[in-house]
Amino acid sequence: MQKYNSEKLKAISDNIRIDIIKSLSEAGSGHTGGSLGITDIFTVLYFNVLNHDPGNPEWEDRDRVILSIGHVAPVLYSTLAHAGYFPKEELKTLRKLGSRLQGHPGKEHGLSGIELSAGSLGQGLSVSVGLAISAKMDNKNHRVYSIHGDGELQEGAIWEAAMSAAHYRLDNLTAVIDRNCVQIDGKTSDVMELEPLADKWKSFGWNVIECNGHDHAELIKAFKDAKTFKDKPSVIIAKTIMGKGVKEIEDNYRWHGKAPNKEEAERFIKQILKK
Ligand SMILES: [Mg+2]
Repeated sequence: MQKYNSEKLKAISDNIRIDIIKSLSEAGSGHTGGSLGITDIFTVLYFNVLNHDPGNPEWEDRDRVILSIGHVAPVLYSTLAHAGYFPKEELKTLRKLGSRLQGHPGKEHGLSGIELSAGSLGQGLSVSVGLAISAKMDNKNHRVYSIHGDGELQEGAIWEAAMSAAHYRLDNLTAVIDRNCVQIDGKTSDVMELEPLADKWKSFGWNVIECNGHDHAELIKAFKDAKTFKDKPSVIIAKTIMGKGVKEIEDNYRWHGKAPNKEEAERFIKQILKK
């Protein structure tokens, strides 16, 4: 698929955000804050970084994206639709009975581009480690991108997988942490402190890259650096603002699992278009 520069990526991320808001407002429930906050990371991944082919989603040599935080499904669906995996029209069916776009992604619903049925936090990194090991065993060059929330790092399974990834020198694996410093019930520092986060990953044997998770050029560089680093898995700690793009959602954990109503949706979309 064509790779876009950071100028073009801005327009794409705005449109992805708008469709996240539309689909959530249509659904009447779902996760708005995290989806908007991680949109720039998804935009850069799918429109600049990944080797993938939306017309041939099962292509054996495609890069794999493992979304461990299944609750931000709206950003995955919106990005996949914009990349051409399925018609954008289908985004309106989010969370509806019989839809392929359920509240958490499920492979069983048959939607193109879904690599993992997710929702239970802490599991994605183990899956990614398995995929990265199997790629090495098969002498394949594709990469595995494992997407995580920061609150999710409080799950013990993450650190078992982190240990394995370093042990097996999985330099074909890049983990991305959406470091927005909030989780469902409040600030991560109040619920369970994660700092010093970069030092934790370093001590587990990972190459650590820190960047601004809303700056497309910085993200492109971070992914490039991760791709070229040898003998260790890389983690990108991307500093983000939950709800980025909509002032009244930004950094407000009460928007973790809440959808905008029709009036709010209209107002939020106008805000995104103004920027
Ligand atoms: Mg978070």
